[in-house]
Amino acid sequence: MVPEPQPRGLTPPLCMKAVFFDAVGTVIFPARSASEVYVEAARRHGLDPDPDAVRARLWAHFRVEEIRDRELNWVTSEVREQERWRSIVFAAIDGATDALFAELYYRFAQPFAWIVPPAAAECIARLVSRGVVVGMGSNYDSRLEGVVGGTPALRPLRERLVISSLVGIRKPGSAFFEAVVRAAGCDPSDILFVGDDVDNDYYGASAAGMRAVLLDEHGKHDHIPHRVRSLAELE
Ligand SMILES: [Mg+2]
Repeated sequence: MVPEPQPRGLTPPLCMKAVFFDAVGTVIFPARSASEVYVEAARRHGLDPDPDAVRARLWAHFRVEEIRDRELNWVTSEVREQERWRSIVFAAIDGATDALFAELYYRFAQPFAWIVPPAAAECIARLVSRGVVVGMGSNYDSRLEGVVGGTPALRPLRERLVISSLVGIRKPGSAFFEAVVRAAGCDPSDILFVGDDVDNDYYGASAAGMRAVLLDEHGKHDHIPHRVRSLAELE
């Protein structure tokens, strides 16, 4: 007997008043992987780190910092974000210096360091053409303002850019999503939040009373009812 297909849940139709996107991993992606960029920058600074070790240590320390954020009840700030990335750079690269950290920090403030996949650009344009309010809600820091402002496909999001380090609370904290609601100017139930992180985006937005869709590009989260493999599916 052929098993019943797993119910995948309905993708909320794009008839919402507002759609907010997570940034990294949802509508922007590093043009080159962070660990590659770290290794190249380290070499310019006279170091010779092992690329595999840099990659492993970068992501291991990223997770350490996530745990620290939870202990801080999701409180954040521009100072905290700089401290996070400084700590990650120093953990990933033996012999890292403040000058190396500064180079890496400012690199990822530049639009050229990021790409917007065509499906994301087309999704944003489609929503704008339908008169849907669009915005962005990100745990990245104020560097995002320059990236969004300097990237034509993202400019429609610029007026409603909610950045955790400026709000003071990061996703999935409820105060972050309250700031999204204020930016959207409508009820939470009229907002669709789209992101790639199960806890920060999907459950965070759902707990705030929004509709949520998980961008699950690699099909890892079968248990999430509302998910898409590509933003092209958000019709
Ligand atoms: Mg993300």
